[in-house]
Amino acid sequence: MKHKCSKCSRDAVYHARYEGKYYCRKHFNEMVERKVKNHVKKYKLIEKGDRIAVGVSGGKDSVVLLHLLAKLRERFPFELVAVTIDEGIASYRPLSVEIAKRNAKKLGIEHRLYSFKEYIGFTLDETVEIMGSFERGERVGACSYCGVWRRWLLNYAAQDVGADKLAVGHNLDDEVQMFIMNILRGDIARLGRTGPYYEVIHEDLVPRIKPLREVPEKEIVLYAVLNNIEVDFSECPYAVEAFRAEIRDWLNEMEEKHPGTKYQILRSYDKLFPLIAKTYVKHELNRCKICGQPTTGEICKACQFRLQVEKKAKERGLSFRLE
Ligand code: SF4
Ligand code: ZN
Repeated sequence: MKHKCSKCSRDAVYHARYEGKYYCRKHFNEMVERKVKNHVKKYKLIEKGDRIAVGVSGGKDSVVLLHLLAKLRERFPFELVAVTIDEGIASYRPLSVEIAKRNAKKLGIEHRLYSFKEYIGFTLDETVEIMGSFERGERVGACSYCGVWRRWLLNYAAQDVGADKLAVGHNLDDEVQMFIMNILRGDIARLGRTGPYYEVIHEDLVPRIKPLREVPEKEIVLYAVLNNIEVDFSECPYAVEAFRAEIRDWLNEMEEKHPGTKYQILRSYDKLFPLIAKTYVKHELNRCKICGQPTTGEICKACQFRLQVEKKAKERGLSFRLE
């Protein structure tokens, strides 16, 4: 039997088991949009007149985020600019960069591209080639370079476009996975970095906001499909984070057996966040001696990685720098 929307008489397209409701297309869209609006309002993530840089990779989360913020902007004036980081992954990135560009264009939003090659000196593919084998312990995983450099470059890009805040596409599933992973690793300090709201830690660290934090991954996928939003569903060839995948599967199993589990975990995180942030977040940051970006040590992790790769390239007589 076909289910009807819990709000009207139309056929349902979605069953939100965590609240026992069915939604038709129209009411589903409204529900997702409302979640984002309420989260942004509750924590004052965006204020009138803000200039928001949106990190858009071309994947479902960041593209849907761009569309939802564009929608939110219709009734509540703020500026948007899309920034895409091109890590230089030949088999994967060119398409998603195009998709990011096309979505920004469609929405009439300025789009800016920042590449590892131009700002770090090496593409991610080159880095992996220079550093050697992960299995033989010659380098850390590709995601470590990628994550550190992307964070660095996104902050640089957000400053470069004059943004007040940087919006990223983390959804409910990402957030809950991250929470559990850090608990299992005993890395509580990391949980204090970005939670439901942001704190201004340093004048040169553009605050990160996560407007999709309350939206389950499933709903993001469905929102993209129902609204004909072009997104890239392909996976990065370096994505082999086995630990995260295990946590994801376990959480999905728990959610299946006990609908609402993910939201309950998120609520626990929200309650703990102020305490963790107060106890662990360092407000006195130095400036990196090389690039000047805020860091806890002397030289930031991004510059440390860059120096390692430069050194190894030199030793091996390889030249990858731009002329
Ligand atoms: Fe970068 Fe790893 Fe993500 Fe690929 S999976 S884009 S290497 S962080
Ligand atoms: Zn640096």
